[in-house]
Amino acid sequence: QPTSREERLAGLPLREDLRGQHPYGAPQLDVPIMLNVNENTYGVPQDVQEAITRSVREAVSSLNRYPDREFTELREALAEYLGHGLTPEQLWAANGSNEVLQQLLQAFGGPGRSALGFPPTYSMYPLLAAGTGTAYLKGVRDADYELTADSAARQVRELAPNVVFLCSPNNPTGTALGLDVVEAVYEASEASQAIVIVDEAYAEFAQLGTQSALTLLPGRPRLVVSRTMSKAFALAGARLGYLAAAPEVTDALRLVRLPYHLSAITQATALAALRHRASLMSEVEAIKHQRDRIVKELERLGLRPASSDSNFVFFTGLADPQRIWRGLLEAGVLVRDVGIPGSLRVTAGTESETSAFLSRLEELLEEEQ
Ligand code: PMP
Repeated sequence: QPTSREERLAGLPLREDLRGQHPYGAPQLDVPIMLNVNENTYGVPQDVQEAITRSVREAVSSLNRYPDREFTELREALAEYLGHGLTPEQLWAANGSNEVLQQLLQAFGGPGRSALGFPPTYSMYPLLAAGTGTAYLKGVRDADYELTADSAARQVRELAPNVVFLCSPNNPTGTALGLDVVEAVYEASEASQAIVIVDEAYAEFAQLGTQSALTLLPGRPRLVVSRTMSKAFALAGARLGYLAAAPEVTDALRLVRLPYHLSAITQATALAALRHRASLMSEVEAIKHQRDRIVKELERLGLRPASSDSNFVFFTGLADPQRIWRGLLEAGVLVRDVGIPGSLRVTAGTESETSAFLSRLEELLEEEQ
């Protein structure tokens, strides 16, 4: 008789390629200061909360009907928000950018096809590939987790994937890619006709001078730029991710999306936040300030933070990251151990959250002396 849940799972007729896989597992612990999954910890500003509540209340009166399957108003608002001359036909949205990425793999990956990522990178890429039966190919980065145009293009030519994931800024390292890398990868994927996805989940936190791959969309029908409202818009709980691409890419996604996949509540929420984004954008500025402060302070403490275009900082130079992770948790501060030797990742929080993280970290480092 099977006793453990694990044994009972093994007894089910699960797909062979899912056996032994582990689900996405960032711990959801209830601690006062959660700096582990790169949320906006400032919360939804009061005026945005009120706008969302009004918008949702209106939507509730017609919940007996299916929502606009084409989320027309939302696509218009997203096109207007992104600018770059984008039209609503070029926009697509789903329940989080995770679902956007999943739909892309459903349409362009699948059995017999492959997707290339460059670890360390967003941990969902291999899981989304597994779920859609797409082979996941691991590219190699250069020193300090950088990725040069030459190296990325050479790997794309050699591996000839059907989908390429370029995470910019990269999670967990936080650094953005130069547009030269995106251009080179796009050219190199001409032979395999790959869909090149630039995952810009953290684009709003970019440093001055960092450019979005949105500028490269004209004339590149296989290029896709994905974004999310989970970070800058403080809406991780609402689940709204989106992409910009050639209109025919959105036609491909219509073939795999579930009918009415974006609920009327989700559409109403996202629309209200987009229309009242001024206070959200001032939070973004405050977060960038705390991010820069973390980088500066970590350097002062003798650690090596990576340059960050995101709302988090990856740093190396720790003798025992697990001890530091536990020590921070004991003080109510949850950060992320991304499994890279000598390193941790921390989300830039409010000023007081950031102070709590920095002062506890300094104490823990002093204990090592
Ligand atoms: N891409 C990257 C690089 C991320 O870090 C995340 C969230 N951690 C996502 C996509 C997915 O976010 P969501 O599904 O909330 O839009």
